Amino acid sequence: MKKIQALRGMNDLLPQDSPVWQYLESTVTTLFKRYGYQEIRFPILEQTELFKRSIGEVTDIVEKEMYTFKDRNDESLTLRPEGTASCVRACEQNQLLFNRGTLTQKLWYQGPMFRYEKPQKGRLRQFHQFGVEAFGLNGPDIDAELLIMSARLWKELGISSAVELQLNSLGSSDARAKFKADLVAFLEQHKERLDEDSQRRLGSNPLRILDSKEAKTQALLDEAPSLLDYLDDESLAHFEQLKALLDAAGVAYTINPRLVRGLDYYGKTVFEWVTTQLGSQGTVCAGGRYDGLVNQLGGQPTPAVGFGMGIERLVLLLQEMNVLPEEIFQTLDVYIMAVGDVAPAAFSLAEQIRDRFPAMRVQTHCGGGSFKNQMKKADRSGADVALILGENEVAAQEVTLKYLRKDQPQTTIKQTDLLDLLA
Ligand code: ATP
Ligand code: MG
Repeated sequence: MKKIQALRGMNDLLPQDSPVWQYLESTVTTLFKRYGYQEIRFPILEQTELFKRSIGEVTDIVEKEMYTFKDRNDESLTLRPEGTASCVRACEQNQLLFNRGTLTQKLWYQGPMFRYEKPQKGRLRQFHQFGVEAFGLNGPDIDAELLIMSARLWKELGISSAVELQLNSLGSSDARAKFKADLVAFLEQHKERLDEDSQRRLGSNPLRILDSKEAKTQALLDEAPSLLDYLDDESLAHFEQLKALLDAAGVAYTINPRLVRGLDYYGKTVFEWVTTQLGSQGTVCAGGRYDGLVNQLGGQPTPAVGFGMGIERLVLLLQEMNVLPEEIFQTLDVYIMAVGDVAPAAFSLAEQIRDRFPAMRVQTHCGGGSFKNQMKKADRSGADVALILGENEVAAQEVTLKYLRKDQPQTTIKQTDLLDLLA
């Protein structure tokens, strides 16, 4: 019979890699809590309409990347391609934004996202994100804080030297509309110098042409109008204040006037943390301000800003840069060997150790076998210490302690003395 395989672009996370994910998850979620963010969880499946209305009908995501299907009731559902839309939906539905004076919310979430893309290194069909959203704050202080928080994360992970912050302002929707009109007029005159994809976008989503990777399109854009020249006064002041806050905090950035992001809901601040170490999948964290979205989804106008971080890309970067702490790969401290008919004594000893040292990782040998065979397993387990219980030891209420990773003679001691020795 042909074996069933996982879907393309949807990976299993195997035990040898899970310590990396756990290390990253605990570092990141601890950091979010340290900045006063609270966790929110929402479903993976939503009505298709939610994403169409928020991300935008003519974006890559909605046009060609969503996993959309009809359920048994003929309702159109979509596996979430990102978290912001669901987060806004959940906040609105549960009245987190305008009830009981809880005007401000600082939230984080994590989990799988789904996009039908061409799978490659750092680009999957089921990928995972950490997301952060702050509601009810006009900024630019909160915009700056999000960037200060992410800069601290890179520092704590040891990858600061490999990531660069790119910053832009998209201005108000009026400013953007005016720029868009002038950009389209300019590009129409030079249509033949655009790549095919960009020619298509000229009619649907012209701003996306700005981040085309094609050299000839980029060359043409050097001559095109620049978004920063169109900023309205308010957006310009916001942008200047944000830059000053980042300067004061020592967070370096590069202004990239062509940074537009692939989702329609952004305005004013947009940013990406980019690395050159992962090929063309170089953006590890991306976000911006989306003051219009809550209203667009039926809520009261609410300022909002947030970002999404790709976990797979961060894992790749940590591995590539060799900055993972070695100790995360050790998953066991003590291996208890039970040679002969001594299971009750072995379990009792293991429980005593767990009572006294709740953080200690203790495995009791199960499945019998000879001394030699159990010793091999203890060696391979990665534990620091093997505790050997045979029938003689149990009769004498003793235990033999053998160090597995340092050159120190094994000792046989009273079980009552063991706990102090392990301390
Ligand atoms: P890209 O330009 O690389 O396609 P994007 O602009 O579509 O990224 P966002 O929607 O902003 O990405 O998602 C935020 C982050 O999630 C990205 O910066 C990236 O780290 C990660 N990400 C997005 N799509 C994928 C994917 N298919 N596989 C792995 N990670 C992804
Ligand atoms: Mg994309």
